Amino acid sequence: MLNEVCYRVMPKDISSWDDETLSKEKTWTLEAYRAVGGYQVWEKIIREKTPPMDIIAQLKQSVLRGRGGAGFPTGLKWSFMPPQLPGKGEKYVLCNSDESEPGTCKDRFILSNNPHQLLEGMLIACYAMGAKVGYNLMRGEFWLPFNRCEEALREATEAGYVGANILGSDVSIALHNAATLGAYICGEETALMNALEGKRPNPRFKPPFPANFGLWGQPTTINNTETIASVPVILQRGADWFAGAGTEKSGGTKIFCVSGHVNKPGNYEIALGTPFSELLEMAGGMRNGAKLKAVIPGGSSMPVIPGDVMMKTNLDYEGVMQSGSMLGSGGMIIMDESTCMVAVARRLSRFYMHESCGQCTPCREGSGWVYRLMCAIEEGRAEMSDIDRLRRVAKQIEGRTICVFGEAIAWPVEGFLKHFRHEFEACIKQGPRTVKR
Ligand code: SF4
Repeated sequence: MLNEVCYRVMPKDISSWDDETLSKEKTWTLEAYRAVGGYQVWEKIIREKTPPMDIIAQLKQSVLRGRGGAGFPTGLKWSFMPPQLPGKGEKYVLCNSDESEPGTCKDRFILSNNPHQLLEGMLIACYAMGAKVGYNLMRGEFWLPFNRCEEALREATEAGYVGANILGSDVSIALHNAATLGAYICGEETALMNALEGKRPNPRFKPPFPANFGLWGQPTTINNTETIASVPVILQRGADWFAGAGTEKSGGTKIFCVSGHVNKPGNYEIALGTPFSELLEMAGGMRNGAKLKAVIPGGSSMPVIPGDVMMKTNLDYEGVMQSGSMLGSGGMIIMDESTCMVAVARRLSRFYMHESCGQCTPCREGSGWVYRLMCAIEEGRAEMSDIDRLRRVAKQIEGRTICVFGEAIAWPVEGFLKHFRHEFEACIKQGPRTVKR
């Protein structure tokens, strides 16, 4: 199953479309979106004055779970938004389009090529939760996605779908596109709110949670781009249809971003619960017929899984967890037998050291320790006891920080040491040498 939900403006086999075809088809326009039934759900909601609780009930029934990484049930999250109290100010819906997790490249595709579906989803989200203002916050480097979203917002506003007295009703919702400055940590939901408020994007302590104290201290619900873009199709085709497309606990389809040593890297929308082996086949199999060595299944902060285990794994939240990792954002980094796992681990640790916001000592200092130990091991300068020291340092970070960035440093280390410790030992046994980077 391909492009049933987020890519419905595309043909069935989107891998056959290159950049030139995309430019010609202009799938991001209002005309293209209306041609596939776009905004019909929104028009119906406005026309029939659908009770907001009915929308939330349908989302719960659909078993839609957050597509940004945490996999939290979306309908339940929406139901946490407190009712509007007179004189208590605004409530906000915030779309997290920061997408900075290495290995993940799905949201930018939606923003660039199907922005109206995201806008329709945001309008429905605002309506269902009683928010009059919604923000779509993208990372700073997203020039093309940002411009496409701006153009889509202009078209939708002119068509009367956004703004004051939508389609002649008494419903008024303002939507805005905004951009962060591009730091990885802006993807953390509380850092994202600080970024939007014009502050340094440091994560905040939780509680209080955003549903009670979010943007400018007001109730705020934050969802990932793919999650929000799924909403119009769920309401159009029915919660049961969506739920039936996935597994009992993970409804619907999900976009997987396949990168690394495959023949056809790219984004693939498939039903949750699909075996990994089928996704690998869709991606053209392993490059040069090489053997699969390992997969990082949910963006770079998730533990690595050996290839033989991955080939028996079903792609849903529970299936990947049973194999010892997490589905996360669906960013699949595929590695063949030529890959040095020590080099991969060292490179990832450098990224996390660089991106730590520096508020918490375990994260700020520990990420540097992890990176320096990784370098020493890769260059053969370390002792065998340094492998256990590396694990201890990672453990000291995990669970002792303000945000889950601490886990993003620790989990990959634990995954690599659990499955590929022999490669770390081999590097040390080889003795000191110069490593080309
Ligand atoms: Fe910043 Fe790291 Fe602490 Fe998160 S865990 S708040 S990124 S220092």
